[in-house]
Amino acid sequence: NLSSVPLSVQTTCAYCGVGCGVKATPKADGGFEIAGDTAHPANAGRLCVKGSALGDTISLEGRLLYPMVRPQRGSDELRRVSWDDALGQVADKWQAIIDEHGPDAVALYVSGQLLTEDYYVANKLMKGYVGSANIDTNSRLCMSSAVAGYKRAFGEDVVPSSYEDLELADMIVLVGSNAAWCHPILFQRIAKAKEKRPDMKLVVIDPRRTATCELADLHLPVKPGTDVWLFNGLLSYLNQIGAVDPAFIAEHTNGFDAALAQADAECGDIAKVAKTCRVSVEALTEFYEAFAANAKVITGYSMGVNQSSAGTDKANAIINCHLIGGRIGKEGMGPFSITGQPNAMGGREVGGLANMLAAHMDLENAEHRNAVRTFWDSPRMADKGGLKAVDLFRAIEEGKVKAVWVMATNPVVSLPDADQVRRALAKCELVVSSDIIERTDTNAFADVLLPALGWGEKDGTVTNSERRISRQRAFLPAPGEARADWLIISQFAQRLGYTGFEFSSAYDVFDEHARLSAWRNDEADLPRKFNLAGLAGQGTQAYDAMAPVQWPLLAGEREGAKRIFADGLFSHPDRKARFIPTAPRLPANLPEEDFPLTLNTGRVRDQWHTMTRTGRSAKLADHIPESFIDMHPQDALIYGVREGELARLTSKWGAMVARVQHGGGIARGSVFVPIHWNNQTSSDARVGALVNPVVDPVSGEPEFKHTPVRIEQF
Ligand code: SF4
Repeated sequence: NLSSVPLSVQTTCAYCGVGCGVKATPKADGGFEIAGDTAHPANAGRLCVKGSALGDTISLEGRLLYPMVRPQRGSDELRRVSWDDALGQVADKWQAIIDEHGPDAVALYVSGQLLTEDYYVANKLMKGYVGSANIDTNSRLCMSSAVAGYKRAFGEDVVPSSYEDLELADMIVLVGSNAAWCHPILFQRIAKAKEKRPDMKLVVIDPRRTATCELADLHLPVKPGTDVWLFNGLLSYLNQIGAVDPAFIAEHTNGFDAALAQADAECGDIAKVAKTCRVSVEALTEFYEAFAANAKVITGYSMGVNQSSAGTDKANAIINCHLIGGRIGKEGMGPFSITGQPNAMGGREVGGLANMLAAHMDLENAEHRNAVRTFWDSPRMADKGGLKAVDLFRAIEEGKVKAVWVMATNPVVSLPDADQVRRALAKCELVVSSDIIERTDTNAFADVLLPALGWGEKDGTVTNSERRISRQRAFLPAPGEARADWLIISQFAQRLGYTGFEFSSAYDVFDEHARLSAWRNDEADLPRKFNLAGLAGQGTQAYDAMAPVQWPLLAGEREGAKRIFADGLFSHPDRKARFIPTAPRLPANLPEEDFPLTLNTGRVRDQWHTMTRTGRSAKLADHIPESFIDMHPQDALIYGVREGELARLTSKWGAMVARVQHGGGIARGSVFVPIHWNNQTSSDARVGALVNPVVDPVSGEPEFKHTPVRIEQF
């Protein structure tokens, strides 16, 4: 009922982890005017082209509006059923599988597109009631290396800095981040700060010369996969010239000597490091000298660091370089992972990854498990980590996991070795998908489709890259019979006979989450920086009116913390940070005779994920209308393909077809393909089919940035 909707609604953008505030105002023609929210601290009224086009993406065309079942596997036919029927069928089959094969035979695969409330309920169900940690998220593909790096270094998954620090820094180093395209408003903030203070130095470390490099004072086009050499070299250099903070190292850290010895062993010589990283000695020296000379340095890193078989070590190699000089927790300095999805961070808070527990507690820690079990009054608590994304879909193909429920994501397009995902789903006994779109590459395998509320229809919270929690608010009526994800899972849990899911609103869920974050948080065995005590028990009205706020927010506080670790107290039991020795290693699969080129994947400026939303906007399609293979003109000559013509790209895992183009700033020996296009947009367009399924041994994040391929005329 739109008459009950206020004139203008403040919400947040559906896309990237910058988390911009959006104002939606109804127009006379029934549409909505979308504008940046001037009151939101992340964007102060600005929106990038994707955010500005949100209004083009809210039509009901192609929407999944009713629960559907597929009477026959492999058929296109879907039959509408009632919610009762759909949830009943899923609950019966799910329970039968658990009874026969145990709780690890079922799984949820969820998404950074979910709201924190959705994520919380899904995790509570699996880890505290079903008794399995087989719930993983597509954030595994995006941020899990950054999470693992923080946890190893700080004892907790904590981003120490705020966006404001990027403006206050004297030097910003962006590693593996094309922020100009992937985090545009954050990049605009950096550009503005640099305009005001031209002395502010921007260094971009990226194998590609991306749009971000246009603003850079220095671009280091490193050889793909050599980041650990580069940052170990920096650690060694900083020590050699005495750019260290011995008091900070002694009082607040452990492990310095071992990390330094590791760095010195292979990376103590700049000329050798430059050769390994394939950059000039002069450029590398300029970077090292500038890092040493500027106290206020922010190192921002994103998918180029995380999506690697050495992603966690890369993150720790960066953090080591901040710890050596005590450059953390203070104005304008710190290691800063930039989140990909709108709520990857909120998912982390509620334990959205298979190896985590709610409220930044650890599944593998008995004290933490006990605390959560008591709080939830849970009947069956998972006591070990669950299957991470790539392993989960392998286990499905092997028949070990027999039922999977996919929520708000499209793994047949987005996971590596995506044809394996197709095989896995085809074999799985029960595939359920909660989605807003009816026809996707993944939904083609679903036995049961459940209509979820989408952006503009759902209510809850998201957390952006600077730990700022913002409300997403509904300004559209629920279409058809679509329901909120937290409600779908709660009703499903009740059908399984569980108590503890009697939530009647998103506020109820958020309140429980906030109370859990404060639960025993000041005790010696559970010290966590993550704390929402100041938001617990606030009441529905305050929740509805909640302004964007950063965590931690302690009881009685109105403003959260801009910076964390200023007190020098970390979350390891001894309250000290850890230097982590990082032994450099090359990507797992290197180019060879049959596959001589290296495939790198990533986003384009105006599309998002698998295009189920952005693909509806003609304005967004104008930027880049179809998929492409970007490569160096000399490589095109050598391999006999021509710009503007179709070519086939093949790896050991799969193949795809797209048009060749030049001009994307790519070095010889590499090709770049965007991640967005899929088989709903054109056939053989999924780059995920080619990507090697090798993962980082600590984080489980796949190596999306480095797969050997060959190219041929199509
Ligand atoms: Fe949305 Fe990100 Fe653009 Fe902001 S920068 S408007 S959050 S896509």
